Amino acid sequence: MIVEIKIGDKMKIPADEKIHPEREHVGICVWIGEDGTTVALQCERSHNSKNNTVFLVKLESEK
Ligand SMILES: [Zn+2]
Repeated sequence: MIVEIKIGDKMKIPADEKIHPEREHVGICVWIGEDGTTVALQCERSHNSKNNTVFLVKLESEK
């Protein structure tokens, strides 16, 4: 089952090695892909002194 998310919802941005290494950052959903498995999350924290950085996140199915 896919995690349900709507535009404007907040979710924790998954940490990874390259794109978004910081844990415990929360982003607001600003875009959802057509298949519903890819979303764009706008991070609430600043990155390299830039605010409102958007990260694409592939949603994992929850089992
Ligand atoms: Zn962040």
